[in-house]
Amino acid sequence: MYSESVQKLIKEFEKFPGIGHKTAVRLAFYVLEADDKFAKEISDAIIQAKSKVKFCSKCFNLTDTDPCEICSNPKRDKELICVVEDVKDVVAMEKTHEFKGQYHVLHGAISPMNNISASDIKIKELITRLSDNSINEVIIATNPTIEGEATAMYISRLLKPLGVKVTRIAHGIPVGGDLEYTDEITLIKALEGRREM
Ligand SMILES: [Zn+2]
Repeated sequence: MYSESVQKLIKEFEKFPGIGHKTAVRLAFYVLEADDKFAKEISDAIIQAKSKVKFCSKCFNLTDTDPCEICSNPKRDKELICVVEDVKDVVAMEKTHEFKGQYHVLHGAISPMNNISASDIKIKELITRLSDNSINEVIIATNPTIEGEATAMYISRLLKPLGVKVTRIAHGIPVGGDLEYTDEITLIKALEGRREM
């Protein structure tokens, strides 16, 4: 049996996604055996990130400044928006160094099974961004899952009447796959091979 404080630490680690009891115990002991500086740095990093990081009011990416670095970068193409499900997908796209436009993070995908409807994700906000007619093309880069495809179709139907070009990234990303885990070359090809919806 562990002492109360150790048990509490283990319990907190167990709250992380993908961390089971065994790993939580290992992490807790790692922290306990490391020097005080390590514990302080890690707790400070968590507290600082929580207090500083917010969502960009334009693209809903995570950022320390609002608008985010991508939205406020004058070198990025302001007429091109890539729509992704998740903040991690922005990171995956950025790693390719191929995409020079801006992003729009939906924070999820439409999923009736999980009770997630269009109003639960940032679709309204996307429409608002398009209202001043400054956007030329919207590339929909939701994941090639049932939910991702349904979301792409839904957005495409909403945007078409607005006269904006809507494209979908090419397949090549395995069906059911996740942008986040797709290698850079496949992602570049998917982007290059995008088709109008
Ligand atoms: Zn932004």
